[in-house]
Amino acid sequence: MNLSDLDSLAQVSHPILSLYLEGRSKRSAGGRAALNSRPWLKKQAKLLAAGMNATERKAFQAQFDRAETFLKSSPVNTPLAIFATEGKWICLHLPSPASNELQWGTPALTQIRRIAEEQQRLCIIAVDRAGARFFHYELGELAELSAMKFEIDVSQWKRREHGHMARRNTKMPHGPLRDAFKRRMDEQYKHFFRHIAERIKFVCASEHSAAVLLVGPERMTKPIESALPREVRDRAVLIPEDLARIASAKLQAKLLPKIAEWMRRFSEERAARLLESTRGSVVGFDETLAKLQNGRIGTLLLVRGLDAPLRQCINCGEINRSADPVCATCRGPRRKVMLSEVLEDLAKRHHTRIEILDPDAARKLAQAGGMGGWLRQPTLVGRARSS
Ligand SMILES: [Zn+2]
Repeated sequence: MNLSDLDSLAQVSHPILSLYLEGRSKRSAGGRAALNSRPWLKKQAKLLAAGMNATERKAFQAQFDRAETFLKSSPVNTPLAIFATEGKWICLHLPSPASNELQWGTPALTQIRRIAEEQQRLCIIAVDRAGARFFHYELGELAELSAMKFEIDVSQWKRREHGHMARRNTKMPHGPLRDAFKRRMDEQYKHFFRHIAERIKFVCASEHSAAVLLVGPERMTKPIESALPREVRDRAVLIPEDLARIASAKLQAKLLPKIAEWMRRFSEERAARLLESTRGSVVGFDETLAKLQNGRIGTLLLVRGLDAPLRQCINCGEINRSADPVCATCRGPRRKVMLSEVLEDLAKRHHTRIEILDPDAARKLAQAGGMGGWLRQPTLVGRARSS
């Protein structure tokens, strides 16, 4: 599931049932009854159905029953999105909070789009002696991309060194032969690791991955990590667990908590690094917003959920928090806008990357205005021109 799948959902001609459930929040674990969404769901369904004609109500009821049956069989404790229509069923375990919502007709995609935009995309590789499996993580789901099998090519060695032995049995050779065998195995592994590293680089670029998770025994993940190009290696995380052989669904169940943990740590580290830095960075709402509009920010760090009422000059476009109805720069009239309405556009226009951080993990940045960024280094071209 990714954003283009959502677009395809919007093309479906049948009416679609869209359901978001907030799930059981961490804070009230154990308080099950308080968070049971079933009464809400029933009431909402009744309200929707009341406005439908008989045919439509029948179609709606069929999809609603499907969702109810599903929810009965698998109690929800994480935020969830369901899209159901004749012949189609999509259920997503959402990685960040959602609000309860039930709709019928065109798919309700606002919440999921917001969540998708906030989420980091990850490239995940599970590796063991048999090979490597590649996954793309987005929107709380793992999608398997491809696999690489580790195959040892022994044909060359047999001929040259111990062909007469190896042809009869496949036992490990002894003594000096074993050393040679081991050396060649190591070489083949090295070769294999380099191949994996190449593929990781490719996947990261094509899927816009924010980070790489290398899952497997460290004797395998470490050499892969060191074979990565620097810009990818800086974003690599090792998870020392042997999960390469298990089925995708199980792997996902095992990895999701680790990904959530990684996201929290990522937020913490990114925010701490920004706040500690003494140069090349900016922190604070107004300063960051101004520098963003000057095109000075390469990467913008933003705590999730940050929003604020602003004003934008209709004439020159300048945006800030001042309540002045007249632009200080060009005296043009100013209109009210929300940060959330203009941010994406600003970032796009200035080629700024946005990193959304967990507000709990990045609490200090949240307290410092919720926004900051890494400035672009002045380029040599720019310097040459100005001198
Ligand atoms: Zn202006």
